[in-house]
Amino acid sequence: MAIQRILIANRGEIALRIHRAAHEMGIETVAVHSTADADAMHVRLADHAVCIGPPNATDSYLNIASIISAAEISHADAIHPGYGFLSENCKFAEIVEAHDLKWIGPKPEHIVTMGDKVQAKKTAGELGLPLVPGSDGAVSDFNEARKIAAEIGYPVIIKAASGGGGRGMKVCNSEDQLETLMQQAGSEAKAAFGDATVYIEKYLGNPRHIEFQVFGDGNGNAIHLGERDCSLQRRHQKVLEEAPSPVLSHEERMRMGGICADAMAKMGYRGAGTIEFLWENGEFYFIEMNTRLQVEHPVTEAITGVDLVREQIRIADGQPLSVKQEEIEFKGHAIECRINAEDPWTFAPSPGLVTYYHASGGMHVRVDSGLYAGYKIPPYYDSMIAKLIVYGRSRNGCMMRLKRALEEMVVEGVKTNIPLHQELLRQPDVESGDYTIKWLEEWLAKREG
Ligand code: ADP
Repeated sequence: MAIQRILIANRGEIALRIHRAAHEMGIETVAVHSTADADAMHVRLADHAVCIGPPNATDSYLNIASIISAAEISHADAIHPGYGFLSENCKFAEIVEAHDLKWIGPKPEHIVTMGDKVQAKKTAGELGLPLVPGSDGAVSDFNEARKIAAEIGYPVIIKAASGGGGRGMKVCNSEDQLETLMQQAGSEAKAAFGDATVYIEKYLGNPRHIEFQVFGDGNGNAIHLGERDCSLQRRHQKVLEEAPSPVLSHEERMRMGGICADAMAKMGYRGAGTIEFLWENGEFYFIEMNTRLQVEHPVTEAITGVDLVREQIRIADGQPLSVKQEEIEFKGHAIECRINAEDPWTFAPSPGLVTYYHASGGMHVRVDSGLYAGYKIPPYYDSMIAKLIVYGRSRNGCMMRLKRALEEMVVEGVKTNIPLHQELLRQPDVESGDYTIKWLEEWLAKREG
């Protein structure tokens, strides 16, 4: 039977995003929320709402038993995990399916394979994706690490196999630091992810971060929806994303996208995925795959016209992909700004009461947010409160419109990073698209300095 009621196992703007896609398909929604989110917009808009626990995410949004109980009592027949929280938790996916609920996500075995970065790299290599030179799997022995690092050449980066969100990575410039940094990376990874396994990779000097959006139907058919350039990062966290990348030609997009789609077809991948690469001097190097929807997915929606959440729901429901590769057209340019409740220059979180809110509007302007005047931003979760996504026929037109849209957006009562975005967009390198993953931090350091 077709999906009729989706439980959204998430909060904030992504819970709203999923609710909207569901309602446009005539599907009811169930919001789950912590006690801190009782007044959240996703709870207000959903057809049904269930409180699943106290503010702490471990006891609510990560509480599998509570979420499954909520699905049972609300008679949901599918669960969408959004991003973060349980979205890449294979145990959760398995439990959802074991309860005869449809899991709006990839096959659990693919979450496992791609969730372990060592395993993911091995799989990616076998599927024909170009890799960053590095260790052949996990490294535990220091002497072995020393040999590998010498072979690939310094600097190297030590990465946690279970890492995520930019955590558990250490750049090592010379052999005398290697042992200490390996130990540090291992114990940090153990503390953060419960797994001390690390591996070693060549540290690329000045790459861009370019990722491809893929979709599979689970039966060996797969497509790509082009790339997103997410090089503007601070502490490995994306700040602004755009599609297409300012550096790729259409031929290169179709060549690399084709390699990604073929890899997914071979795997029998189901649902939405993102294959992340570093890009330097015209070469792509696979770093990881995310087996879920990404925060920055709207820029892809803007330039392709494909609703990615609708596509996810259709696939979970056993329907075929709604578009063929040759039907996908890449038109115009889109940029997303992540609007966070934080000090724009110290980045200290700024939760609290929003006394006034005015969202940007106008042609080709999209604001994904659960914000409203009178809403109290809780201190327990991510500081992202809105995404501003702007489309233009050309990159320049998109930039002009984005500047205009940022002028319009007003959030009072808390600090936001809107001033950061405004100043960023005035920088000639950003205007011309001439930046790498190092650019933002170097610019911030100079600005302070
Ligand atoms: P996470 O899962 O924590 O996000 P990733 O492997 O995706 O980790 O890497 C996050 C970011 O770290 C990349 O976007 C890039 O900025 C940096 N990074 C990762 N690997 C390398 C590398 N080999 N060389 C240079 N920078 C890297």
